[in-house]
Formats: sequence, structure tokens, C-alpha cells
Amino acid sequence: MVMGDEIKIRYHNGFDKIKYSDNSKENLAIINRTTTVTTTTSVYQTSTVNILDDSCKIINNNNNNKTSATITSSYRKDNNNTNIKHYHQNNNNMPDVDDANMQWFHGKITREEAESLLTPREDGLFLVRESTNFPGDYALCVCYNGRVEHYRVIYNDNRFTIDEEEFFDTLIELVEHYCLDADGLCTRLRDPVVNNNNNNNNNSSNNNNSNNNNNQASSLLLDPKAFEAAGWVIRMNDLKLGEILGKGEFGDVLLGSLHGQKVAVKKLKDSNSKAAQDFLTEASLMTSLRHKNLVQLLGVVFDGPSICFVTEYMAKGSLVDYLRSRGRLHVTRKDQIAFAADTCAGMAYLESKQVIHRDLAARNVLISEEGVAKVCDFGLARDQTLGLDGGKFPIKWTAPEALRFAKFSNKSDMWSFGILLWEIYSFGRVPYPRIPLADVVKHVEKGYRMEAPEGCPNEIYDIMRQAWHFDPDCRPTFSIISQKLDQLRALTT
Ligand code: AMP
Repeated sequence: MVMGDEIKIRYHNGFDKIKYSDNSKENLAIINRTTTVTTTTSVYQTSTVNILDDSCKIINNNNNNKTSATITSSYRKDNNNTNIKHYHQNNNNMPDVDDANMQWFHGKITREEAESLLTPREDGLFLVRESTNFPGDYALCVCYNGRVEHYRVIYNDNRFTIDEEEFFDTLIELVEHYCLDADGLCTRLRDPVVNNNNNNNNNSSNNNNSNNNNNQASSLLLDPKAFEAAGWVIRMNDLKLGEILGKGEFGDVLLGSLHGQKVAVKKLKDSNSKAAQDFLTEASLMTSLRHKNLVQLLGVVFDGPSICFVTEYMAKGSLVDYLRSRGRLHVTRKDQIAFAADTCAGMAYLESKQVIHRDLAARNVLISEEGVAKVCDFGLARDQTLGLDGGKFPIKWTAPEALRFAKFSNKSDMWSFGILLWEIYSFGRVPYPRIPLADVVKHVEKGYRMEAPEGCPNEIYDIMRQAWHFDPDCRPTFSIISQKLDQLRALTT
């Protein structure tokens, strides 16, 4: 970037944030619509920007009417290498719903309950609760001089404020601000009263722990308010719904439009069911996971007829449909290895986060407009009580130890990945084509393994066989296979 170059900024939810610093104080500029800024230095280093458009407000600027600021957030170049797009999913300012930073959030407790939690009354001890007097608002409760002060946090127009001078996109940002500086409060915030109900997730389990996903489920904040407070809520009014893209476990998936951007909208059939909690669990986990080979969550809608979650739109649909509809004639060797490598990279990322998928299959991989494969439907605390004969259980994709002893792990995901590779190289055939479903487990336990699909490279079949080792400990990790597939991809023409 050279002096005078333009940066186009794309917005999520109609506004976006640029972190900037002036006079050594880091701050946030909140821009309320698409605008143009010019840079005077490289955007990959610290950059000065002049905001040209008058409607582009810098709200959090301590009333100094600044017209320039220093960008410290990261951008990536788009294809023509001149414009820079700032995408929501690259915006690390967006907190996770289960972010440890929200341990101070206590949900709907009364003023009296807050006061009894705020002991001993040490200056700066604080918590945040939902306001009982002003439904929809929050209260920041902080100890000072042996008393508890309750500050009303007004929530209006998707922003939070105490003094109607400083505005924040999320409660987390508000709390962070008052931790640095009292800025009008009786004291700056020092120590949070931790809400243990929201804080069970420190007992993180290892890769092979079969209860891993259950721990995640019980530890996440499933209260819609937590999504709101973390800035993940999308208003129904901002969303236009279109045609049905597909039908999933929880309900229909629709094409949507959010401020002109195509999105996918997963609608939940019954918002009061256990499925709703599972659905929110999936969404909660998705807020903490970001990778180019995972389908990105954009936000959750609570104010429509049903709860919906909004994800990036994957124009080419599910991998299995893609393979079946295009077949050998159109799906090339290069496509196959790219799908395999992309999926494996997404899974290696989940493995690094100790997240177990449990339902990895070509139907749960989606293809973007550009042909990138991304894993979806991760993070679901799947119902382990589903019997093997319960029609929905993906028997043909599930490792023997997971089927028999519910021992799910990243290594049981690796077994499923072997099956997914087989699906890719057979152009979307159903696995174990000649074996009745009821007999699959018996055959597999006796040592039967599928043959290589016709035309499948030896190196790929070799990976399948490693993935289908009966002993989970002898199966490779996603990280190792990801490296191998990347090498094979580079060699495939
Ligand atoms: P799911 O509920 O995730 O199993 O999705 C059911 C079907 O909806 C998938 O097989 C796809 O055809 C479609 N679908 C789901 N998510 C998306 C998305 N993000 N973009 C495009 N189509 C999708």
C-alpha cells in the first residue's frame, strides 16, 4: 500500500470496528456504514487513516473530533491486491460467547443477590447482571468504600453505554474499558466475581476423552443473553430470507441476505426443546472456532419466530451432493485432493482445540463458491443414547470403539475421515455398498475393510487403511495427515 491507496471496508451487521490508537491510548473507532479511508503507510504495519466520509463516526474518541487514527487491526488483501476487505470473521475483537472474559456475567440475579456475591467489599470487586428494573438493560455492580454501586448499562441500538458518552459494541469491551480507567465510575474495575455456573470449562479433557463434547456442552453459556452480551446477535429485521437450501437435523436451512451479503440461515424447528439447547451449544462453540476450513458462524437470531443461526453461505452445497451430481466427468484429481486436504486442515484445527466432531462425513462438509471445502456441524454434543439401530446413527462412518463403548475421540474422527476419503474417491458412493447395514459392525470387527475405490491413488488408500486401524492409538493424527495431503496436493496436476 502506498500513500493515497483506498481501503474498502466491508461490514457485518451494518457497522464494524477499527482498533486505533492515538497518543498511546488504544481505542475503537466504530464506523456505521461502508465508507472509504486512505492510508499513508503500509496497512501491514501501523497505518494512519484519514476518514473521508463525514457519516463515518469515530464514537470512542474522547470528543476530540479526530479525523485520523492508527489502525492496528489486521486486514487481508482481496484478489486485485489494491482493495482491502475487513471481514467479520477476521475481526479478533469479536469475543467468544464462552470467553473467559465473561466470567463476571451472572445473568438474571437480583440486586440483593449481587450484593451478597460481592464480598468481601474490596474496592473494584465487580460483576455484571441483567437489570431487573430495566428489562433488556444490564447492571454493573462494583464495590467501593465498603458499599456496592449499581450502574445501569443501557443497551440501545446494539450498543452498550453507562454515561451515554462512551459506547461499546459488547459488554466485554465495556468491562475492559472500565478495568483500565474508572472514567467517571467510583473506581476502576479490578477483580471479577466469577460465575461458576458459566465457568466449568477449565477441566479441559485430553484428546482421547470420550466425554470431551459433553464437558463442552455443560460448560458453555447457553443463555441467549450471553450471545447478546458478546455481540453475536443478529436482528431478524436485518435479515431477508429466501429459498430452502436443505433440510438438517434441527430444521430447514434457508438462503438469506444480511446487508446485501448472502448467508445461510439455520432455523430451529422447536425453540423450546432440548434440541434448542444443543443448537445453542453448537453455536456457542462455533463462536470460539475460526478457521478457513470450518463453516464460519456470523451470528444468532433470537427475535424471530424461531431461533436461527446464521453462517457463511456455501454456494456449492454439501460435498456428497457435489461429488454425486458432478461425478467422474467433472470432479478432477486436483479437486479430490483439494477437498481431502481442506477437510483435513479443518479437522486438524479442531484436533488442536480438542474438539471432537463425531459426525464427520461428506454430507457434513460444504463447498464454497471458490471450491473450498469446509467442515460444518461441528461442536454438537450428540446424543450418545441414540441406539445403534436408531435410524439416525451414522454407523458406517463411526469407529468400532465409538460404536461399542461410546469412546469418541479425535482418533474416532480419524476413522470417519478415512470413510470420507473413500466417499471422495468413489465420487459420493455410500460406504460398504454390498454389506447390509446390520452386518457392517460385525464385519468391521472381524477385520473387514473396504477396497480402494476404482482409480484411487495408493497414497490415499494407504491413509484410509491407517485411519481404519482397529486400535485408535495406532491411527495417525489429523495434523500428520494434513501435512501429507498438502504435499500430495502440491504434486497433483
Ligand atoms: P445441516 O443442517 O447442516 O445438516 O444442513 C442441511 C443442508 O442444508 C446441507 O446438506 C446443505 O445442502 C444445506 N446447507 C447447510 N448449511 C449451508 C450453508 N452454510 N450454505 C449452503 N448450504 C447449506
